[in-house]
Amino acid sequence: MTTVNAARLHARIAALARFGALPGGGVTRSCWSPPHEEARAWLLSEIRGAGLQAWVDPAGNVFGGLGASSFSAGTPAVVTGSHIDTVPEGGILDGALGVLAGLECLQAIREAGAAAPRPLVVAAWSDEEGRYGSLFGSRAFCGRLDAAALPTMTAVDGEPLVTAMARAGFDAARAPEARAPEGAVHAYVELHIEQGPRLDEAGVPIAVVDSIVGVRRTRLIFTGQADHAGTTPMERRRDAFLAAAEYSLSARELVVERGGGRSVTNIGVVYVHPGVSNIVPGRAELVHEMRSPDADVLERLAQACEALAREVGERRGIGVEVRRMSATIPVACSPKVQAAVEGACKQLGLGWKTLYSAAGHDAQNLALITDSGMLFIPSQGGKSHRVDETSDPAAIERGANVLLHTLLTLAS
Ligand SMILES: [Zn+2]
Repeated sequence: MTTVNAARLHARIAALARFGALPGGGVTRSCWSPPHEEARAWLLSEIRGAGLQAWVDPAGNVFGGLGASSFSAGTPAVVTGSHIDTVPEGGILDGALGVLAGLECLQAIREAGAAAPRPLVVAAWSDEEGRYGSLFGSRAFCGRLDAAALPTMTAVDGEPLVTAMARAGFDAARAPEARAPEGAVHAYVELHIEQGPRLDEAGVPIAVVDSIVGVRRTRLIFTGQADHAGTTPMERRRDAFLAAAEYSLSARELVVERGGGRSVTNIGVVYVHPGVSNIVPGRAELVHEMRSPDADVLERLAQACEALAREVGERRGIGVEVRRMSATIPVACSPKVQAAVEGACKQLGLGWKTLYSAAGHDAQNLALITDSGMLFIPSQGGKSHRVDETSDPAAIERGANVLLHTLLTLAS
């Protein structure tokens, strides 16, 4: 039976972790940044060194092909991969695992002479973490990039996309050209760390992912009246912050009660104006994020939260503006890919559990153009998007071997 070379995989994970490494562990490697571009160059040389064809598309996606040097409708490829960018102060496995395990699988298959009838391609999708809107590279590949928005896209630190891409040697205006020819992808499967505690606590080695959550982000602006914080009688105050605070607590209750046990909510951005202690807040802004694997539930929750905001505003005499910022749709994973992952687990004598993905992934864009799915390995302690994110080396090897046999099945 063909297996991955675990020592080589672990060595590559350690090597990639050096680009953007932080003194106390973990890594900061935002897409298009100098450490990311050094990592991209390293990855391309590893792909070539593994005896694969290497290429980069106009959106910055990096590919390594076994039996392919580009995408073509005539020879649909089975694609695997993930991303090499990270969140600020992130871990060394989020994304890196899927790319490097995919590379290892293709190299092991090539070395074993086990090449399948269909071409195999490993992808590193650019800007998965959303410096410029999440899942940038896979959106471009799947034809979902809004070309008109590219010239004005700006990161939170103020750097325009055009500038960041130019520094890395790319022309942002050409990013939509990364769109794959129709029918060029036969199937997509992505290996990722779970990033949550469910597998680790259940003691199960593999998760077969059946769906990926949709994410909604809404900006809420509460407008009251700025006033002297000492002389204005309490009953006459129109405090915008208190309306925002009441909304925040009630929205959490609402999502927990009506979210079907699989929905989560977070308010991670709060601005209070003018933001001084001796003025009653005249305006408060929130960014409210909600996630659910069920599209209908997510839509119902969004409507209920909007109604809640208006009700709170009316009762407190506060103006309310609700602006939808972004929305990704929950995606069901392909039954064909799920069956292939389960088959590989059986072949390797490994137990599995079916889970939905509580985080967004490139696989949800690929689901728009092909049979797409994912598998997870446990994250120790469920930790992710933090510097101490880790998985057991044996769990990494098991995941890579399940990926290898899944790829062979999908390519046969
Ligand atoms: Zn990731």
